[in-house]
Amino acid sequence: MSDPRHPAVLTGGCLCGAVRFEVSGPILSAGYCHCTHCQKRTGTGSSANCRVAQADFRLLEGAELLSSYQPPTGVPKLFCSRCGSALFSGDPLSDQEVAIRLGCFDRDPGIRPQFRQFVDSAAAWEPVPDDGLTRYPRSRYA
Ligand SMILES: [Zn+2]
Ligand SMILES: [Zn+2]
Repeated sequence: MSDPRHPAVLTGGCLCGAVRFEVSGPILSAGYCHCTHCQKRTGTGSSANCRVAQADFRLLEGAELLSSYQPPTGVPKLFCSRCGSALFSGDPLSDQEVAIRLGCFDRDPGIRPQFRQFVDSAAAWEPVPDDGLTRYPRSRYA
């Protein structure tokens, strides 16, 4: 049963199921990213991401299938080389805060996106919703 003082472990993974991970602590932040890298890698106008503490993250399966693409600028993008699912950015095994794509969780992770970043590069064809979330012209984490 869920106990708010000890949130249940969250599990997640890629579309084909080869890459699996778990998060055993609270999600620290979550938001939408409207950067051009997220637009290209997802084929959509924005990407929902979250961050968790390194100590609360465990890669359970599929490490050998995780591929990484390092764009000319910004952090590496990690994806499953079998199914193409975007999973993480940066280095999930050493970053102080692990960045996880919000859509990878198996169930409602509880948190709701709190901000929108890189709204300066939002797609022309998808106006940034007037949803009251804090907007950052560029990175919220810079
Ligand atoms: Zn996969
Ligand atoms: Zn982005």
